[in-house]
Amino acid sequence: MATDCIFCKIVAGEIPSDKLYQDELVTAFRDIRPVAPVHILVIPNAHSSSVTEMGDGDAATLGRIVAVANQLAKQEGVSKSGFRLLCNAGPDAGQVVYHTHFHLIGGRELGPMVAR
Ligand code: 5GP
Ligand code: ZN
Repeated sequence: MATDCIFCKIVAGEIPSDKLYQDELVTAFRDIRPVAPVHILVIPNAHSSSVTEMGDGDAATLGRIVAVANQLAKQEGVSKSGFRLLCNAGPDAGQVVYHTHFHLIGGRELGPMVAR
């Protein structure tokens, strides 16, 4: 656990969150500033600063993140209407919290990813 990391503290229950799921590998909770009706963060329990630090050795955790995201998408009623599961990595992506996390976003039309 990184002692100065807000998401490590959420995993440990040291700061409150609207937790939807937790097991030995991952935790899911609602984003505090949702950009859509459904906005959930699915994160590895173990600290890594971004997905750039993850690889083959994290296959079980990454697989669990996808499985949990799919389950939560069903629970939240966006599995069929559609959703995004995305990960910001680094400054150009606008990453703010440096504990790896995947955003599950849905419940409205999200718009195209526009070519520039
Ligand atoms: P990033 O830009 O790093 O991919 O996204 C970080 C996300 O974490 C943002 O959507 C932000 O609203 C969310 N967030 C930051 N601090 C907290 C917090 O203390 N609790 C919760 N639930 N979400 C947070
Ligand atoms: Zn952390």
